[in-house]
Amino acid sequence: MNQLSLFDNDAQKNQPVKLGKTEVEYKDTSSILTKASGFMSEYDYTINPYSGCSFGCTYCYAAFFSRNKEKMDNWGYWVSVKQNALALLRKKRKKPMIGTKIYMSSVTDPYQPIDKKLELSRDILKELIDYHDVRLVIQTRAPLATRDIDLFLKFKTLQVNMTVTTDSEEVRKVFEPICPSNKVRIKAIKEIHESGVECCITMTPLLPIVDAEKFALTLKETGIKNFIIQPFHSTKGKFVAGTRNAALELIHKYGWDDRRYKDVLKIIVRQIPDIGKGKTGFAPI
Ligand code: SF4
Repeated sequence: MNQLSLFDNDAQKNQPVKLGKTEVEYKDTSSILTKASGFMSEYDYTINPYSGCSFGCTYCYAAFFSRNKEKMDNWGYWVSVKQNALALLRKKRKKPMIGTKIYMSSVTDPYQPIDKKLELSRDILKELIDYHDVRLVIQTRAPLATRDIDLFLKFKTLQVNMTVTTDSEEVRKVFEPICPSNKVRIKAIKEIHESGVECCITMTPLLPIVDAEKFALTLKETGIKNFIIQPFHSTKGKFVAGTRNAALELIHKYGWDDRRYKDVLKIIVRQIPDIGKGKTGFAPI
């Protein structure tokens, strides 16, 4: 049997091995449900349809879970498709996961570019709707999430989190060079919210901000009521890929230290008093 027949849609039969600058590989995984731990410990499981991530955020901690140093150094330029993900999930049908708290995804973006073609995340959602009554939080930086609004609306308990990190394209291009702009992310999450889906904007991490007041107002104007914020830690040297120097220079340029973060936070909190912070903010719905 062709392994790709485990997927549900025809697009996957034409499996790309390169998408833009991203190398795409297809591998079996031993498990699609990972016991949540650490920052996500209040969830039962995380689901990561992919390993690697073509968004390649320079600060991404997931890079440190790469299989080897070459993969870590090339973070953002490879993605591994968990080709048996759906088959593994289907094995759970005998014992449906009622009320299980799931976070999708912790070490990749479920709506990264390859998913437009493969629709693996969409297939996983369909499986969760049809056979399991889970409590799901979806975390993304991608407007592609709007594709699945029809499925989001079928869940009893679901929230879509969109990460919005800065009001500056200059900052975004340095820290998140291959991510969609924050402007399109805001537009996408507004669309999802207006369709009736529970949404949250996660400023995680909050990168240097030019105009905190205007930034907060823009977020508030989406109509969304849930927000989470977390500081950016630049001190641990945990940058990868080729933008490390540029990112550090920008941190310096904006004087983005704890004091500046706290000043910006005060301004944002004036507009959004009920903002969630850190791990508490990420608590399951
Ligand atoms: S989108 Fe998320 S998983 Fe992907 S590189 Fe950025 S922080 Fe990491």
